[in-house]
Amino acid sequence: MKHKLPLIPGDGIGPEVTEATVEVVEAAGIEVEWEKMDAGTPAYAKHLTYLPDELVESIRRNRVAIKGPVSTPIGEGFPSINVTLRKTLNLFANFRPIKNLPGVKSRYANVDIIVVRENTEDLYSGLEHMVVPGVVESLKIITAEASTRIARFAFDYARRNSRKKVSAIHKANIMKLSDGLFLACVRQVAELYPEIQYEELIVDNTCMQMVLKPEQFDVMLLENLYGDIVSDLGAGLVGGLGLVPGANLGDDCALFEPVHGSAPKIAGTNSANPTAMLLSAVLMFQHLGEIERANRISFAVESVYIKGQVLTPDVGGTASTTQFTEAVMAHLVN
Ligand code: ATP
Repeated sequence: MKHKLPLIPGDGIGPEVTEATVEVVEAAGIEVEWEKMDAGTPAYAKHLTYLPDELVESIRRNRVAIKGPVSTPIGEGFPSINVTLRKTLNLFANFRPIKNLPGVKSRYANVDIIVVRENTEDLYSGLEHMVVPGVVESLKIITAEASTRIARFAFDYARRNSRKKVSAIHKANIMKLSDGLFLACVRQVAELYPEIQYEELIVDNTCMQMVLKPEQFDVMLLENLYGDIVSDLGAGLVGGLGLVPGANLGDDCALFEPVHGSAPKIAGTNSANPTAMLLSAVLMFQHLGEIERANRISFAVESVYIKGQVLTPDVGGTASTTQFTEAVMAHLVN
């Protein structure tokens, strides 16, 4: 079956890791008609908008898409393109599996965490205004509806995948109303899943616990901001941002993308690690039912790391993006 999928290379290292991914997907025998779309700076240059309507329409129509990193100009009044896309398509769950890759050097073993991050509200609502010059207010929005919905997602995932524990992460000792509401909703949902252990941890303690003993975590459930920060911390535990895939899931659409941003410092140098984007494609094709071929890509990536000869600089090697990609393709077993 030939899949028709929107492909958003993005900017910075996006086009390089996207090209690598397309090559590996084709080499794995997955038939795809890619609908290449611009977002961010490349879109602005052509369409005078950072987020063209046709891109949103294409994802709505095809229901599944893959995207590289897209940067948003900082502090210039533009809302984040990623956040806008997630909100417009109601992709309320951000899903990030953080796991040791065999062969990748890391201070930690046995890390196998699923980060579930609420994607549509919290301090990412973009509601900021100047009260008077020198005083700015930024609104943190937490609703019962979104909190319950993301809690259901996390517990459903845990149940379907035989996960043992869900940890809700919060700062309700300080933000008693907002994080208090989040926790109250999660507790109600937790009661419906008696077989799954449930715990609550304050976010600062969580960061320390992750660095001390990350293997204690299973499924982590977080509001938007804490989820963003803890995801990067988690990526650091297993070897860095170049390795961790992600998905934004809603009731109607799914958008797969790596956790990392556009890493402008290494853009255009053919040194970015395409693993995070490749593993995001693996998640996407598993979602689409291409389990066997998706797993072949995943095994090929693991084999390259286990051999440890062709690795990109972020994980201690000297290989280029192209060389790493060729090594992955050479390990695709038919
Ligand atoms: P954003 O603000 O867009 O979320 P970020 O702050 O998470 O981005 P990134 O652009 O993701 O930052 O990258 C931070 C650093 O991590 C980069 O400077 C780079 O050194 C490293 N990095 C991220 N992704 C990769 C990759 N795919 N390959 C190699 N190094 C990477």
